Amino acid sequence: MTNLICGDCLNESFLREILQQNELDECSYCGLEKPVADLDDIAVRCSEALLAAFQFVEQPMGVIHYRQEPIGDPLGEVLEQMMDCSDRVIADLSQALLELWGGWDEDEPHLPN
Ligand SMILES: [Zn+2]
Repeated sequence: MTNLICGDCLNESFLREILQQNELDECSYCGLEKPVADLDDIAVRCSEALLAAFQFVEQPMGVIHYRQEPIGDPLGEVLEQMMDCSDRVIADLSQALLELWGGWDEDEPHLPN
């Protein structure tokens, strides 16, 4: 099952702007009828942003956290730094991201070690 999320629950200006063009539907988080996106789609965008940030921008805390422990709370912390949304959104988004990354073949690019 895919969760739908609206821009207000996402609370991230760039993603919010993208969402404004989407179809109206019921947000899985606030229950209101708003322009929404699949959480999985948001995860893909976050993944791109995260990978770009980890590779090209110096973000010591995030990189250190990620290197230490790729699964679990640290990813949530990184997401919290990126976006100011509820714990429930962060938790679902982390899970979607891990599923996304877990689906990669071993030969494919991964976060730098
Ligand atoms: Zn919402």
